[in-house]
Amino acid sequence: MTKFETLGLDKPLLDAIADLGFETPSEVQEKSIPLLLQEDTDLVALAQTGTGKTAAFGFPMIQKIQADSRTTQGLILSPTRELCLQITNELKLYSKYVKGLNTVAIYGGASITDQARQIKRGAQIVVATPGRMKDMIGRGMVDISKIDYCVLDEADEMLNMGFFEDIKDILSNTPKEKFTWLFSATMPKEVSTIAKKFMHKPQEITVGTKNAGASTVQHEYYQVGGRDRYPALKRLADANPGIFSVIFCRTKRDTQKVAEKLIEDGYNAGALHGDLSQNQRDLVMNAFRKKQVQMLVATDVAARGIDVDDITHVINYQLPDEIETYTHRSGRTGRAGKSGISMVIVTRSEIRKIKAIEKKIQQDFLSKKIPTGIEICEIQLYHLANKIKDTEINTEIDNYLPAINDVLDGIDREELIKKIVSVEFTRFYNYYSKTRDLNSSDNSRERGERGERSKDDIPSSGSVRYFINVGERDGYDWMSLKDFLRDTLNLEKEDVFNVDTKDSFSFFNTDAQLTELVLQTFTDFKVDGRFVNVEVSKNPGGSGRGGRKRDRKRGHRKGGDGGYRKGGDNKSFRGGKKGGSGRRGGKKRPGFY
Ligand code: ADP
Ligand code: MG
Repeated sequence: MTKFETLGLDKPLLDAIADLGFETPSEVQEKSIPLLLQEDTDLVALAQTGTGKTAAFGFPMIQKIQADSRTTQGLILSPTRELCLQITNELKLYSKYVKGLNTVAIYGGASITDQARQIKRGAQIVVATPGRMKDMIGRGMVDISKIDYCVLDEADEMLNMGFFEDIKDILSNTPKEKFTWLFSATMPKEVSTIAKKFMHKPQEITVGTKNAGASTVQHEYYQVGGRDRYPALKRLADANPGIFSVIFCRTKRDTQKVAEKLIEDGYNAGALHGDLSQNQRDLVMNAFRKKQVQMLVATDVAARGIDVDDITHVINYQLPDEIETYTHRSGRTGRAGKSGISMVIVTRSEIRKIKAIEKKIQQDFLSKKIPTGIEICEIQLYHLANKIKDTEINTEIDNYLPAINDVLDGIDREELIKKIVSVEFTRFYNYYSKTRDLNSSDNSRERGERGERSKDDIPSSGSVRYFINVGERDGYDWMSLKDFLRDTLNLEKEDVFNVDTKDSFSFFNTDAQLTELVLQTFTDFKVDGRFVNVEVSKNPGGSGRGGRKRDRKRGHRKGGDGGYRKGGDNKSFRGGKKGGSGRRGGKKRPGFY
């Protein structure tokens, strides 16, 4: 087995490694450390989260940097404040025996003058988030014109978050003769674009299969009706009493809503998303680390900083748009050699997405049933019995025992057990004994019996038909247009129906009560400079012709892979996906993160 001693590292680093207790290098470390030490080269390294990428670039960078010069020689860009701090802390530990080496973190949400002061004192290595870095360059607070090494850490995530332009700007302030090391868990198109644009003949290292999720993770999906997501989530939690989980929602709004509902329903839950202040996020993260919060509801972006190893379940309350994002999510569990479960709550129409993910991660999902009320009661009952068995006796009780004995006098053991268990169990029993089966099936009679209209049904009245000026020519089919509408309007997919795409325009329906939302959302709505126009159709029958003028104001149509292309590859579930910087572009899109 390879040892750190054989990789070419000097004594100060080897001593620090010994202090850290690292025994053997991980695969990505074994491959990149000797390479980066021996050669001056650009590098693209792909490895899953938790594989030790920080040391893979950190060790060589520390060794190669001139600690006796105060010039900033190494720049590490990372997507979030949390990761930026994590990397900085790790680098400080790695370089503890390297005299004079100073690593400084630069990130938003903290005093910029403090950070500038630290830089001024001399920082050979700067770890930064792109936004703050750009800001400080603009104000002349940091000089990266002489760096030798630049690391783009979690490159895929930085691009996901729309930092492409910032990264470009930052790199334009660095010398041409430097070496760029790109680290990423996945290799979407945008990352190869960066590699092509900013790197010279990078060597490539891949650890494990590209894009594969951790194999210690079991993937499961649960099919429910569109309106049953929340009750299904509750059941999944109740059926796993020891759960310690991250629950992913698509939007900040949903994240907040789901967390609030869970708290209201008595769960130890918390929300983590970008609309919270840094202070609020720190509080939630601390509570989560201490397991005071058992269910952390998070957006994808906010979850990037979660550095907790023993998460038992990842629950996809809603599926993400990108398969890559799913691998990030499920990678939150099954870390550090532990096993984990990634659960997905889906509606019938999303099953095809499951198939797409299976193909990508090369692992099959188990199709599971949401536990019934009775099953949950049983699980809770055994859990309670075990809890009683394992409870350490508090000797303080001894003093009160005579009095307690008096109260419980005359109750035999069996009856006593029943009573004790009932104290907690009845709560579950009362809640669950009369609930229905949440598993959706294709049997519409069953749905009818519930006495509620399933959203999969198409209502014959009370719905409104709309005209929209995008169609197949823009790369949409009915499924991808439905996805686009659902995202933009922040609705469940089943709220949009009868989607009918024509060449240059399309039709769709919603419930009448959503008309105002639809029309308001699509007022002055532009994507990539192109007007997207929605009007109530004068042809409620929906055949799509009746007197409608075909050629609406089409605006500017982008060539290439602009905003309205249906992705032909299997990287994204749907068309209409924006490029790297798109997510921050359109402000009128409430559905996007
Ligand atoms: P990544 O950036 O790939 O997600 P990190 O660099 O954050 O992973 O490392 C994950 C964890 O593993 C950290 O806590 C780190 O200290 C630890 N670690 C890194 N390399 C080793 C090693 N060779 N042996 C043991 N633990 C390691
Ligand atoms: Mg990392």
